[in-house]
Amino acid sequence: MKKVFLSAFFLFLTNILMAQGYYQVTTETLNVRSSASKDADIVSKFYLGDSVYVIDYSKSWSQVKVNDTTTGFVASKYLSKDFKSSTKSETKSYSSRTPIDFSPFIYAAIIAICLYIVYRRYKSKCKDCERWYAMKITDEEVVDRVSASVKKTTKERNSKGEVIRTNEVYIPATKTKYLVTETCKHCGHEKKYYTTETKEN
Ligand SMILES: [Zn+2]
Repeated sequence: MKKVFLSAFFLFLTNILMAQGYYQVTTETLNVRSSASKDADIVSKFYLGDSVYVIDYSKSWSQVKVNDTTTGFVASKYLSKDFKSSTKSETKSYSSRTPIDFSPFIYAAIIAICLYIVYRRYKSKCKDCERWYAMKITDEEVVDRVSASVKKTTKERNSKGEVIRTNEVYIPATKTKYLVTETCKHCGHEKKYYTTETKEN
């Protein structure tokens, strides 16, 4: 499981670091030339906002895909990295723009998962013998139990499904305080801390 996330994350990083991918055209008209020179023949044109697939990016001239069989060269200064479509399939049409692209959300989710893994690793590290995934909960003792209430917001909707009113209600609940004991499975080092949990009655 962890390996899958890490390789996905690595893929995501290489996608950013490697210059290959989709770029956006930042000038009104961008000439595509047959070779990397201002004097070379114009083979095609791109327009402002077009998503262009770059095969080989370099400082002055970049090689781009014109269609499935043709490539050409454009001035790199009129290209900006297009993160929204950088993971799109290469076989899609090169200038069409889809209205919704979920890849930024997927990236965000991958980063969140990786951060969570790092956090879990850090949390379960034994401070004594410094081994990873060492701390395991071995005891949970109830220290205190008090009545509490949880706020709930309910929404009233009309026939069209639009929210016409929101109500706030308090539901009786119980707040429990625990003394948690974690023990290192290697050296037996103990860590104790308090935690509270509120549950609806
Ligand atoms: Zn330990």
